[in-house]
Amino acid sequence: MKNIIIAIDGHSSTGKSTIAKQLAKKFEFVYVDTGAMYRAVTLYAMQNGFVSENGDVSDGLIHDLDNIHLDFKFNKELGYGEMYLNDVNVEREIRTIEVSNKVSFVSEISAVRKKLVQQQQEMGTKSSLVMDGRDIGTVVYPNADIKLFVTASAQVRAERRYKELTQKGDQVSFDEILENVITRDHIDSSRKDSPLRKAEDAIEIDNSNMTMDEQFELISNLVSEKLS
Ligand code: C5P
Repeated sequence: MKNIIIAIDGHSSTGKSTIAKQLAKKFEFVYVDTGAMYRAVTLYAMQNGFVSENGDVSDGLIHDLDNIHLDFKFNKELGYGEMYLNDVNVEREIRTIEVSNKVSFVSEISAVRKKLVQQQQEMGTKSSLVMDGRDIGTVVYPNADIKLFVTASAQVRAERRYKELTQKGDQVSFDEILENVITRDHIDSSRKDSPLRKAEDAIEIDNSNMTMDEQFELISNLVSEKLS
């Protein structure tokens, strides 16, 4: 039987990963957080001095790409795969504001995208997937069975992100988060290679005024309909 692919794209901090995890659990598909992969490459670049304070990325990163090994290792308790960078669990480190502030600069590099897109496409040959990111329905899986494009106002997204990070104990200001959300959207949407955009056949969902439960009901009905 053919593997089913559910592609979820959209702006930063729209809760794409929450939707994706819920769908993966309900339909028993593998969940792939492609943002985690770009974040892990960014962490590697930061650890090795390949990215400057203002976001310039040196060619050293491109030369080192073959030394970067990314894996999702399934965590039974969490119910999804955690990101490992060269065999080290980096799930916590890749979510910091420091990585968020650099990730869009690293994601603009075509050689980085090429490597990660290839790995993402291979995953779909092994099992049915729910994959979230920025270019899943447009580039990685243009023939995905279901495509969603999720958005919400920048203010609402920053509020959700702020709550999430401060609950984890991170020291961040709301203004820094809001600025990060707006800047990332701008860089992600205007880059040359695989810019963030809604695929023509994607269903758009603005969840600014929706609760998580309302959203999940709406989306899981859409998916059930499509799959039946
Ligand atoms: O999804 P998340 O916010 O964790 O993604 C972090 C960043 O990784 C995005 O802002 C974007 O720059 C990059 N990204 C990308 N393509 C994807 C997934 C993420 O360029 N498919």
